[in-house]
Amino acid sequence: METKILRPSPSALRLAAEYIADGEAVAFHTETVYGLGANAFSDEAVLKIFALKGRPTDNPLIVHVHADYDISPLIDGEPPYAATLRKRFLPGPLTMVYPSKGKVSRYVSCGLDTLAIRVPSSPTAQAFLKAAALPIVAPSANLSKHVSPVTARHVDDDFHGKIPLILDGGDCSGGIESTVLDCTGEKPVILREGLVTREMIAAAVGDCGIYAMKKGERPKSPGMAYKHYSPRCKTAYFTGDRLGDAVACYREEEKEGSPYFLCESKVCAVLKEYNAFDLGGTPEEMARRLYSLLRKGEQKASLLIGIEPYEKEGVMAGVLNRMKRAFGVYHET
Ligand code: AMP
Ligand code: MG
Repeated sequence: METKILRPSPSALRLAAEYIADGEAVAFHTETVYGLGANAFSDEAVLKIFALKGRPTDNPLIVHVHADYDISPLIDGEPPYAATLRKRFLPGPLTMVYPSKGKVSRYVSCGLDTLAIRVPSSPTAQAFLKAAALPIVAPSANLSKHVSPVTARHVDDDFHGKIPLILDGGDCSGGIESTVLDCTGEKPVILREGLVTREMIAAAVGDCGIYAMKKGERPKSPGMAYKHYSPRCKTAYFTGDRLGDAVACYREEEKEGSPYFLCESKVCAVLKEYNAFDLGGTPEEMARRLYSLLRKGEQKASLLIGIEPYEKEGVMAGVLNRMKRAFGVYHET
């Protein structure tokens, strides 16, 4: 199959809508990462997404809708705080999990009685969702466990010849996946951290929890139990107070391979005599650059050595979560 990479012109959007109506998968730009979209009402189309990605079938998908789409037929009620958050943060990088009415394909939620909904703000995503005129399931457009894509080229690297169309909206400005927020309880609870932070949610509605998975329990957000976002090279990870050990690790690798550090700007400045990828100086910059640098890292480095950034709060909570998963530091399963 030929994979076309097209800017979202009227003719490209018409083509995208035709592919979706035919049950095909279409990749599209969002403000977080690129998504791999298909018709949420069609069992075949939803299953195709799992098959294309090699995604475990117990990891549910997020349904993406246009800003004017009325979600009330899909969900079984909305608490007042969720209505407030929806008006405050959508369209934007926030996914809201509601009780489901079971109206979309049963394969979307993988047996959970909830449905995750997102309204992306990217003009390309909005134009695509308007043209498709359907709710669209869309996980990140990468092979399962690989690094999420933040350019059309990244999507093509994983799916060349496997999907008919990538809607190219340029680089993703956010860079990490949406915040996933459980809106089924008395107060909102973050299932996955992202650019809409706990602090921002708490400021809007007074309180916001963070979900901690308990041993033996079925996770509320199954995707977070998997190893994720991994570059295809060896990795090592050090906290910022262990730079000496990190340099020793680099020196050892240097004998046979090509080590690279991945660290924030101020640490890069300290390590300036070594190969290093600069994540940036602000949390937003680090979110935007992380996945591109992990993909660049797997091409250039035999060993990628992550140095944990110093800041841990706000947007950095999401960046740290992705970094630790990429470097294999999280081991929930
Ligand atoms: P991805 O689309 O690959 O970025 O992953 C989507 C994330 O949303 C995964 O962590 C899923 O487990 C999570 N998710 C999707 N649907 C639900 C749901 N109904 N309840 C809880 N988490 C969900
Ligand atoms: Mg993903």
